[in-house]
Amino acid sequence: MSLLDMVKEAGIIGAGGAGFPTHAKLASKADYILLNGAECEPLLRVDQQLMEMFPDEIIKGFEAAGKQVNATKAIIGIKGKHKEVIKVLQERIEELKVGDYIEIGALPDIYPAGDEQVLVYELTGRVVPEAGIPIQVGCVVINSETALNIYHASLGKPVTEKYITLAGDIPNRLTVKVPVGTPIIDVLRLSGIENFEDYAVIDGGPMMGPVMNNLNGYVTKKNKGFVILKKNHPLIRKKTASMVQAKRINRASCEQCRMCTDLCPRFLLGHDTLPHKMMRSLSYDVKDLEGQKVAQLCCQCNLCEVFSCPIGLYPKSANNYYREKLAELNMRYKPTKEVFEVRTAREHRLVPSKRLIARIGLRDFDKPAPMTEITVKPEVVHIATRQHVGAPAVPAVKVGEHVQEGQLIGTIPEESLGAAIHASISGTVTESGNDYIAIRRD
Ligand code: SF4
Ligand code: SF4
Repeated sequence: MSLLDMVKEAGIIGAGGAGFPTHAKLASKADYILLNGAECEPLLRVDQQLMEMFPDEIIKGFEAAGKQVNATKAIIGIKGKHKEVIKVLQERIEELKVGDYIEIGALPDIYPAGDEQVLVYELTGRVVPEAGIPIQVGCVVINSETALNIYHASLGKPVTEKYITLAGDIPNRLTVKVPVGTPIIDVLRLSGIENFEDYAVIDGGPMMGPVMNNLNGYVTKKNKGFVILKKNHPLIRKKTASMVQAKRINRASCEQCRMCTDLCPRFLLGHDTLPHKMMRSLSYDVKDLEGQKVAQLCCQCNLCEVFSCPIGLYPKSANNYYREKLAELNMRYKPTKEVFEVRTAREHRLVPSKRLIARIGLRDFDKPAPMTEITVKPEVVHIATRQHVGAPAVPAVKVGEHVQEGQLIGTIPEESLGAAIHASISGTVTESGNDYIAIRRD
């Protein structure tokens, strides 16, 4: 079986958050394959630990993926500050005799170093066009945990587990491996907090992750971490402002200083992302939205909203307001050129992670979250049929059926983009619907 088929059978999706099916990504041909080990979201600690714990597996999975896309060069992107991890990777690259193919690219400690387009530029000097994807400049990017999963797939092991960091204002900061489909509340309780009434939970990193409305969900292959903060933490207040509140404040207060635009990572790559202009538009009843299409170039990194704006406004929300309007009108931005160059001021306008962490009030929680040996054994798992970009998986098991851990339980619909799903525990299927397949442990 080809690697592509093995990756498809194993149900691998991007483990870095976006959830794009990996077999579809690896079907391309590219000059470079890049490993995204930047982990630029503050407080998350999965990738850096996996690279240190499983260097051989990650290097082999990454090499196989690179060969699959015919890449002539493979670069591991990791922040230069992770000196110990780099040393381990360097030693293993030499030992495995793949030094001619794989090199390490040290990234600056900036936010968002892990944004795919920033990563591509930092590692290759190429600029992904506006509204584009890395393959347009000959690059395929995969996350470190995805590379680990590719290695496992080459041995016939599907994705049934997920590594998750618990961080924030909690007694136990840790990183743990849990079965896909585990109730999120079971994972959150490992933090040492039992009653979450006074807490808010961010699903993912503190910059881009949304604040969860309730804690009733189940772990998917996309989860990377949960950041738990007191409900009155300024970051939570900022992130939970409604669009109506954000719009009202934006209209009343914007000074048009342009800081949101001047520090925007996509603007600095040479794109026309112009959040200050979206802020200005809010003050007028703009009918023709042609000039607002640039709102679609925003990567939602949130830097403008929690760092750049000196008076705490909501420029990303202004972008989102117009993105929604444009989607309703089915209007899409079209780049005006093919080749983009970074702005000359870029290197002076990069935002150091330490400053960002201090600004968003997380300095006290910027601590290790070591990998634990704790085993989470949920009685029942709910495995979502939609964990990925594309069509939901089609259930391949019936209620009452007994399944083994690793067994295929949901398939990709014919002629569709999607990902297979597998039983993460052995047991009996208690629910097999459009949204979830539930399994009760033996
Ligand atoms: S939103 Fe803030 S940073 Fe942007 S132009 Fe207005 S005041 Fe300046
Ligand atoms: S969230 Fe703000 S800073 Fe980030 S890409 Fe969008 S406009 Fe730029």
